[in-house]
Amino acid sequence: MEIFIHRGQNQIGGSIIEINTDSTKIFLDVGIELDGNENIVVPQIEGLFCGHKNCDAVFISHYHGDHIGLLNSILPDIPVFMGESAFMIFSASAEYRDIEVIKKPIFIRSKEPIAIGDIKLTPFTCDHSAFDSFMFLIEADGKSVLYTGDFRANGRLDYGELLKEIPKVDVLIIEGTTLSREEYRTNIQEEELEDIAVNYLNKHSGPAFVMMSAMNIDRLKTMCNVARRTERIMLEDVYTADIATGSGENEIIPNKENGIYAFTTGGDKQYESLKKYAKAKISKETITKNNFIMCIRQSMKNYLDKLNDIMSFDDGVLFYGMWKGYLEQEELKTFISSLEEKGIKMHVLHTSGHADMQTIEKLIQDIQPEIIIPVHTENAVWYKKFEKKSKIVLVDNCIKL
Ligand SMILES: [Zn+2]
Ligand SMILES: [Zn+2]
Repeated sequence: MEIFIHRGQNQIGGSIIEINTDSTKIFLDVGIELDGNENIVVPQIEGLFCGHKNCDAVFISHYHGDHIGLLNSILPDIPVFMGESAFMIFSASAEYRDIEVIKKPIFIRSKEPIAIGDIKLTPFTCDHSAFDSFMFLIEADGKSVLYTGDFRANGRLDYGELLKEIPKVDVLIIEGTTLSREEYRTNIQEEELEDIAVNYLNKHSGPAFVMMSAMNIDRLKTMCNVARRTERIMLEDVYTADIATGSGENEIIPNKENGIYAFTTGGDKQYESLKKYAKAKISKETITKNNFIMCIRQSMKNYLDKLNDIMSFDDGVLFYGMWKGYLEQEELKTFISSLEEKGIKMHVLHTSGHADMQTIEKLIQDIQPEIIIPVHTENAVWYKKFEKKSKIVLVDNCIKL
C-alpha cells in the first residue's frame, strides 16, 4: 500500500490524499486551498483531474470547501462517495452561490464498509462543525490506515463511543488545525454555549442577533435551543432555512410548532424560496411584534437598517459565532460597529470545530499507530512528542507500507 499526500500536509486546507495498492487507487477529499485567493488552483493530478481516468473512487469526509471544493473538477465516470445529509446541505448552499453540482455521489453510512477493488473502506461518523462528517478506516494489503478528516470532541456526538468503535491501526493521518491557534487550547463544549447564551439573554431585553455559518448545524441547534429557553422565536433567513432543511434535522427546520420562522431580506430568488415555508414564514412587521433571535450576515445591512426604522434595537445582543480571526476584517468591523451604534452589544459565542490537544492525544493513545502523518496543520512538529512510540512523518509526502 502507498499513501500519497498530494496537498494539505503543512497547511490548513486544500486536502487531497491518495491511497493505492497494486491494482486499486482511491482519493480521500478533493479540497481547495484556504488562502483567500479567488482563483481556484486545480492541481494537475493525472487520472483524477486530467488525462485518462486512473482512479477507482473518491471519498469526501465532509462538505467544507477545503475538502470538497474540487468536486466538479473530478473526471467523469469516477464514483464519488459522501454522506447524504452532507450532500443535501452542500447542494442547498451551492444553489445560492449559483454553482451547479455536476457530480452526484453515492451515499455512505457510518460503519457500513465499502469495497473498492482490493481496498476496504469503513466510514465512521465523527463530530465536526460540518454536519454528517466522517473519519475513514482503510484496509488493504494487510495494513490499516485511519484518516480523521476534520474532527472534534466538543460537539454533540459522543467521542468516547467513537473511540470504542475505531480499532488500532498501523497509520494515522490526523488533522491538527488548532495546534497553531493559541486561543483554542481547550475547547468548550457546544452545549455549554447554550447556557452562556441563555444567561446573557436573561440580562438583556432587546432583540438578539446571531452571526454564524449556516452550515454549522450544531451551532444552529444551539441557537434554536437558546430561543426556546428564553421564550423567543427563532428567525432563519431563507438561506439558513434551506441549509437547515438539507440537514433533515426537524428541531432546526422552520415550523410554527417549534417556534422557528423563515424570513426574506428581498430578491426574487429569496421570495421563491420562501414559498417552501408557507406555514412558517414571517414578515418584517410581524417580526417587530416579537421577541426573537435572528440569523444575520453582513449582506443584510440594508435590511437591518430598515428593520431598525420600525423597531428599537436598544439593549440588543449580537452573538458572534464564527472564527475570531474574521473580526480583523475591515468590512466586518464596519458592519458590527453599525449595529453597535444602534444599541446592540456584541458577545463572542464560539467554540472550535477542530480537536484540541487533549482530544488528539486521546485518539493517539487509544489507537497506538505505528506511523503518524499530520495533515491540515501549520504545526506538524507538535506531533514529535509521540516519537517514542510512533514514527512521525513530517515532510515526506509519499509513504510506502
Ligand atoms: Zn472542516
Ligand atoms: Zn478542513
